[in-house]
Amino acid sequence: MSERQSSYFPILRQRVRQRSFRALFLFVTSRCNSLCRTCFYFDKLNSRDDLTFAQLEKISATAPPFEKLWLSGGEPFLREELPEIVGMFARNNAIANVNLPTNGLLPDKIFRAVDRMLAATPNVSIDLNFSLDGLANTHDAIRGVPNNFRRTLATIEEAERRYKSVRRLRRNVLTVITRENYNEIVELGLHLAAEGRIDGQYFEVVRGQTPDASLKNLTQSGVAALHRRLMPFHRHYARKLFAHLPAPVRQFATTYYLGNLRLHFDLHEQCLEQPRKWPMRCTAGETTIVIDHNGKFRSCEMRDIVGDLAAFDYDIRAALASTAMRGEIAAIERANCWCTHSCFIQESSKFSPSVQLFRIPWAWLRQRSQGLDGIPLEQVERFRALEAV
Ligand code: SF4
Ligand code: SF4
Repeated sequence: MSERQSSYFPILRQRVRQRSFRALFLFVTSRCNSLCRTCFYFDKLNSRDDLTFAQLEKISATAPPFEKLWLSGGEPFLREELPEIVGMFARNNAIANVNLPTNGLLPDKIFRAVDRMLAATPNVSIDLNFSLDGLANTHDAIRGVPNNFRRTLATIEEAERRYKSVRRLRRNVLTVITRENYNEIVELGLHLAAEGRIDGQYFEVVRGQTPDASLKNLTQSGVAALHRRLMPFHRHYARKLFAHLPAPVRQFATTYYLGNLRLHFDLHEQCLEQPRKWPMRCTAGETTIVIDHNGKFRSCEMRDIVGDLAAFDYDIRAALASTAMRGEIAAIERANCWCTHSCFIQESSKFSPSVQLFRIPWAWLRQRSQGLDGIPLEQVERFRALEAV
């Protein structure tokens, strides 16, 4: 097989697939050292009833092979056995990717764990997502930790120094859009792009029940205007992300990457103020399961608890096949359930040929034809200066 063929096929295989269990969302600890006003898990934090390693071993032993492990919490790096947990899923379940957030406040723990994780998972790609929700004062005020912005930037800088040459470890920034940071997200993006230390920046609209409901005062038109200004950041990072691929494969990968991200933005906008059906069925509970830190499980992070894995002796196949989960899947379909949660948009769209074959390429074309329309000249000029470097 030529180099070009061997690059195309994995991309194509990712695109069109049979519906089957693909992703586990695991809240690996409830412990957290932040006080974010955006946290939908705030009422469960620091509750001292994390799953034990032995219970996680049973979950991994009973799970079928699956592709993606999404870790959450709490702050995942406060779980001492984090590398061993990821290594176990790599060995038992042949995961291809692990994706985890961090507030970036504990560099020693983070780097110790990432080193061990890399050693324990030689065939797994890792997305390490640093949370940054604004410039210094705004970020610190939203997340309730003095100097958080400065400390997280220092961790990102050190991560670049250590892992720059490790392509399977992607160092990203995740930014949650709220009423308070809305006006400075572009500035934050420009700052990060100019520093050039990360591989991507992703944007989610604040969701779920948050301690400060006022942060959710956003409008559809305002978010749409902001998204227009954020697409150039995705184009910027796409160039870096796919630079190693041969030219035609690079174009193919870039089309899907940008089309996919534009589709996510479309759904964030459409579902912000009112229920709006997704162009594909949500496969939560069927191709994914969410396991809370204490073993309670649900179809997705936004819906209620479906059951407790303890009742199934931590057998995840039994939980997935349970009457309660079957009922939940039927209820999701009946309700035409909707939300702005990118992880589930991503997981569900993988099983929709019409989204893969038409919607995503169409979204790519639309963002391409929009180009720099609607973007203030000052941002355009600063981007051009960046790209020229
Ligand atoms: S959003 Fe994450 S870092 Fe912030 S309080 Fe919640 S769990 Fe902790
Ligand atoms: S549409 Fe959203 S809230 Fe509804 S089941 Fe899917 S992920 Fe959950």
